[in-house]
Amino acid sequence: MHECFDVAVVGGGPVGTLAALAFARLGLRSALVEARAPGPPLGDGRVFALAAGSVALLQGLAVWPRVAAASTAIRSVRVSAEGVFGTFRLDAEELALPALGATVPAESLASALEECQKTAPIRVFRPCALLGIEARDALSDRLTLRLRGPDGMSSLEARLLLGADGAQSSVRRLAGIGASACGKPDRLLLANLAGARARPHTAHLRFARDGAAALVPSGGGRLAGVLSLGGDADAAVEDPARAFQARIGWSLGALRLLSPPRIHAVAPEQAERLVGWRVVLIGQAAMSLHPLAAQGLNLALRDLAALVEAVAQSEDPGAERMLAAYEEARLPEHRRTLGFVEGLRSWFGPPRASSLATAVGMLLCDRLGGIKHALAAWASGLRPPVPALLRGVLP
Ligand SMILES: Cc1cc2nc3c(=O)[nH]c(=O)nc-3n(C[C@H](O)[C@H](O)[C@H](O)COP(=O)(O)OP(=O)(O)OC[C@H]3O[C@@H](n4cnc5c(N)ncnc54)[C@H](O)[C@@H]3O)c2cc1C
Repeated sequence: MHECFDVAVVGGGPVGTLAALAFARLGLRSALVEARAPGPPLGDGRVFALAAGSVALLQGLAVWPRVAAASTAIRSVRVSAEGVFGTFRLDAEELALPALGATVPAESLASALEECQKTAPIRVFRPCALLGIEARDALSDRLTLRLRGPDGMSSLEARLLLGADGAQSSVRRLAGIGASACGKPDRLLLANLAGARARPHTAHLRFARDGAAALVPSGGGRLAGVLSLGGDADAAVEDPARAFQARIGWSLGALRLLSPPRIHAVAPEQAERLVGWRVVLIGQAAMSLHPLAAQGLNLALRDLAALVEAVAQSEDPGAERMLAAYEEARLPEHRRTLGFVEGLRSWFGPPRASSLATAVGMLLCDRLGGIKHALAAWASGLRPPVPALLRGVLP
């Protein structure tokens, strides 16, 4: 006899671990399968900019107290383009909000999640890789998962399988769901910087002729930077502070490098479906986005909040109709988010960065309060109907 779970989550990254915690809190028998052995997080030094709804979800799952000390509130976002007069500003104060969101270093989040997972009623299979999925027949109410761990092969059964196993998702492949490119690939330079005149709690997104750069506040006056490597990649890697300075300009003063930079390749990709038979894809397994607009994890957490709400109202966590309704409800937001991210890249990206249309668009957006409120509501994940978890409570 195999052990049987209500939900088996494959992939113990941020999305999968939060999902396992959420389902365990609903009182469902939950399993978490992760291929990597326990140990210090592998992190590449990335810092997550989390929307207000994502912060509320971490609060609702009691993760926030473990990361709060490493977090930094974002109270202001500045978007500008090289050669364009004016800046688009989103300010928490103007929108009567305490903050637009917060940043959290990926490694701090991973450590906090590992601690939370240890004390939660979750059966953890780790290190253990998913090798196969078997469905007995369409009438059966469960799937069998074949796993390989240090002691050899094993199996478990689950009524719902959540594929949170990243961009190269095995769940996606084994469930027969295809994936296709949904944006131009890019190489990114990640670096920690300090700016002599950097304002605290302010994030910057800058579009320049050679590509975009983003800087988010990351505690102790540090700025976590992501720069899209254009044609002159070698020079940028040799002198990262200079490369960021050339993109961002001098409004933050002289930029200084605080730690060795890293290179990260991105290839935006989306799954053809979000669900299969008793299967849901989430996080990078469902869609991997270009990170400049900081939407990937935020979108995944909005998906998770919606899924948890749907499962909480269903007798069977893998019910076909419930999953189809979940997919139908979430697809429009996937399209909007992808359109927003790729639209920003092509509208503001080279060679348009300094066109007249860009300047007019930027000024209009900055002057029209309605656009700001709509953008803030969408970016925070708090567009009605707001699922309970994005308000910090369980459904
Ligand atoms: C530079 C950068 C900056 C970013 N900044 C932001 C940001 O500011 N805000 C934001 O919202 N998003 C951001 N993102 C996106 C964010 O990093 C991802 O959305 C997030 O990491 C999602 O992770 P995940 O849990 O879906 O997948 P992953 O983190 O890739 O985790 C997948 C897990 O599955 C495991 N696994 C894989 N295959 C198997 C298998 N067969 N069996 C068992 N386990 C398996 C892996 O070991 C891994 O632990 C950024 C991305 C990048 C690259």
